[in-house]
Order: sequence, then structure tokens, then C-alpha cells
Amino acid sequence: MQGPLRNAYLEALGIDRWVPRNAPADPVVADRPQTAPRARAPLADSPAPQAPVAPAVRAPVVPAGDWGALREQVAACTACDLCKTRTQTVFGVGDTRAEWLVIGEAPGAEEDRQGEPFVGRAGQLLNAMLLAIGLPRETVFIANILKCRPPGNRDPKPEEVSRCLPFLNAQIALLKPKIMLAVGRIAAQNLLATDAPLARLRGKLHHFGEANTPLVITYHPAYLLRTPSDKRKAWEDLKFARATYARAAGAN
Ligand code: URA
Repeated sequence: MQGPLRNAYLEALGIDRWVPRNAPADPVVADRPQTAPRARAPLADSPAPQAPVAPAVRAPVVPAGDWGALREQVAACTACDLCKTRTQTVFGVGDTRAEWLVIGEAPGAEEDRQGEPFVGRAGQLLNAMLLAIGLPRETVFIANILKCRPPGNRDPKPEEVSRCLPFLNAQIALLKPKIMLAVGRIAAQNLLATDAPLARLRGKLHHFGEANTPLVITYHPAYLLRTPSDKRKAWEDLKFARATYARAAGAN
């Protein structure tokens, strides 16, 4: 992305460009860390770590290469009680040939209404985060751990996750992404089957599944809206993801 355009998105992320004193303007200085830390960072993404989920209990039978059949299975799912309170399922959105898969937690109220992930304020910030690394929303695929909204936006229950994860696994098998970006503690912990706090999962490269897909973890945009002082760390994660993708794409 060109300097001025990228700067506009860094601004949307709330990230100041760092310009050394007495130095000429430099279009890439935003890539460097700030000299002084901003406000003290709060602890982690959100407080209570959740126990790792049990293995998936009900794998959907998905015809190979068939997004339509998978979409229908998700829409008809009654595997947990969330089907009783949802307005509709939220399958995921984006380019089914995308090389990037972004994974969030679960639909919120607006997503439940519109049937699309990340359409509220957090979604706008997610779009800005992706664009800051040169990825318009429509060039990636975006999905959630859960396809139905937990009432009151509570955390997903382990049994809901275990019933729903097979759908995400089927999406991953169809998409074959080159990189996965998990946003937030719930997505990260469930993908990695760990209860480690987000702070320990960020900043390192993980791998997912049989394909050993590179997996990078960052903050959930809803958390960043509440805690803008951590946007700088999210920017470091995004640059790490971009570099990881470049390596993965270059290797093929
Ligand atoms: N938060 C998520 O994790 N997913 C959405 O789709 C919306 C908000």
C-alpha cells in the first residue's frame, strides 16, 4: 500500500506515525516501534481464561469442494441450543479462493441480524486493520468459531464450540488458506486447544491442523475499541502476519 493511503489506515487504527527528531519524512517509519510506550497496557484481551474445548463431537459430512452444501448444513444446524435464539446462522463471508482466513469468536447482535460476520463497529475496525496490511475485506475470508450468536454476547460454552468447530474445520478444508489470523482470546484458545492467556499466544507463530497452516494471533477488534492503547501491539501482530504470509506464499 502506498504511504499516504497506509497512513490513513494507520490513523484509523489510532497508530501515530513515529518520526525521529531531525529526520526527514520517511514513508516506512510507521513500521518501527514507538520510542516511548503509550498508556500502560491492561492485562489481557479479556479476563477469565476458558478451559480448552473437548474434541468436536459431531462432524458435519461435507461433500468435497462444495461450499453450497456446507452453507446449507450450517443454516439447518440444530446441534446446540443456540439455534433456538438465533435470528439466522452466520456462515462467513469473503472470497472462497482467499489465501487469508480471519477467525473471530461468534456473531454479535448486528451479525445475527445481517447474517454476516464483523459488520458492527468491531467489524469496521477489523476492516481498517486488514487494509493497513494491504487487504481489502473482500479479498479475505472471515468466519467465526461459532456460527450462531450466544444470547447477550456471552462467551461460547465448550459444548457449543465442540458442536460448531467441525463447520469451521470444513471451511478450512475447502479454503486451504495460506495463513490464518485469529482475533481474540476465544478464537485463539479454541483453535489451539489451550487455556493460555492471549498475551502468551500473541507474538509467536502457531500452526493449525493437518495442513500445518501458519496461524497468527492478535487482539479482537472489540477489545481494541475498549483498549486503544493496545492498538500498537495489534499493529505489530499484523506486520508479523503479513511477513508470515509473504514467507508462506513465497514457499509455494
Ligand atoms: N465479534 C466476532 O468475534 N465475530 C463477529 O462476527 C462479530 C463480532
